[in-house]
Amino acid sequence: MRARGARPDVAIVGAGPVGATLALALARSGSDLDVVAIDPRAAGEAGRADRSLALSHGARLIFERLGVWARVAGVDGAVTPIVAIDVSQAGGFGAARLAARELGLPALGYVVSYRALSSALDDALAATNVVLRFGSEVTRVDGTADHASLELSGQSSGSIEARLAVIADGAGAAVNAIARRRRDYGQVALIAPLALAAPHGGIAYERFTTEGPVALLPEGDHYALVWTQSPSDAERSKAMPDAQFLDALARHFGARVERFRGVGVRRSFPLALDVASATTARRIVVIGNAAQSLHPVAGQGFNLGLRDAWELARTIGRTPRSELGGEAMLAAHHRSRRVDRNAGILFTDGLVRLFGNRTALASAARGTGLALLDLVGPARRMFTRAMLYGLH
Ligand SMILES: Cc1cc2nc3c(=O)[nH]c(=O)nc-3n(C[C@H](O)[C@H](O)[C@H](O)COP(=O)(O)OP(=O)(O)OC[C@H]3O[C@@H](n4cnc5c(N)ncnc54)[C@H](O)[C@@H]3O)c2cc1C
Repeated sequence: MRARGARPDVAIVGAGPVGATLALALARSGSDLDVVAIDPRAAGEAGRADRSLALSHGARLIFERLGVWARVAGVDGAVTPIVAIDVSQAGGFGAARLAARELGLPALGYVVSYRALSSALDDALAATNVVLRFGSEVTRVDGTADHASLELSGQSSGSIEARLAVIADGAGAAVNAIARRRRDYGQVALIAPLALAAPHGGIAYERFTTEGPVALLPEGDHYALVWTQSPSDAERSKAMPDAQFLDALARHFGARVERFRGVGVRRSFPLALDVASATTARRIVVIGNAAQSLHPVAGQGFNLGLRDAWELARTIGRTPRSELGGEAMLAAHHRSRRVDRNAGILFTDGLVRLFGNRTALASAARGTGLALLDLVGPARRMFTRAMLYGLH
């Protein structure tokens, strides 16, 4: 008998939150598929420990069904509920507050520690029959008519053949068969923790300015700041004394939020729309950030990636083992993700462009939109629904 993982049905490249969710969903489907997941990181060690993730209510429902939510929520300070989002624009009229209460929900979304989520997924996976190859990197993936072949380096060096290879490495780097489109927004996101004079009460703020959006996400006892700036402004901001930085930030937010008390380490990363031109190729599917990496403005990126994993697990579950990775399965996956994916990309990119437009007319249109959103129940509920569950 061949050992599990030697010639798997499904090989998952990358066991980050998206790849690990797919592996777990497959393990919990009761199908007895032979699944292997490969990642250069060590078990229990988060690859991107520097960040938190913005999860929608829909994402929580997925993790609840996989039995992971309670583990994450049980970690002290790992989950902060967002009970309302305050959306406004600088130098224009109009503002909107979206509240979970209106929908009878405990929260609109959650700020969740990447490290805690990753480690809860690792723990859950360790108790399944998924073969985990940590400490190994996939350097190349190719598709042939009847299998995908993967080249590995590190602890499990060599090659693997699988019926289907799923790329969830956050970048799509090892696949030659799928081209990528990248549009640099010419901006960076400056991120930092902010200490507060008064408790945040679970309220998130999103403020649109001509330089780009600024967001404050409640996280534990502080706010996580995401401030879009030009690369040169961000360099200046990082070098400012704390008090000067906090004054500049307070001016940006005006009276909409309590005064900030202190600021932690400031870091920045470039903002771009980076998408795979197709999400499938022969014997290959691309999901998560490897399929689309979006501007953080509306918190859509991770949630979209998670739905990629969830829907792919359902498509695999409906496909006979011998047809995994075949054309019909790849086409079914493409159909199941097309609308949600395109809507997420267009919505996020559209917001960046609309709110980055400096003309007075655009500012008036935005103000009217925000004012209407605040006055009109159905419009607000529709927008809130998009934040909760995505745009499909
Ligand atoms: C700098 C930065 C900051 C961000 N901040 C936020 C934020 O504050 N809030 C938010 O909601 N989202 C944020 N995001 C987006 C968020 O990180 C992604 O949406 C999310 O991590 C996507 O999950 P993923 O599993 O697809 O990819 P990743 O989280 O990138 O996971 C990919 C996994 O693949 C593994 N891997 C990489 N290369 C290989 C290889 N060759 N072979 C095998 N495995 C490999 C990695 O070790 C990793 O475990 C940020 C993104 C960036 C770039």
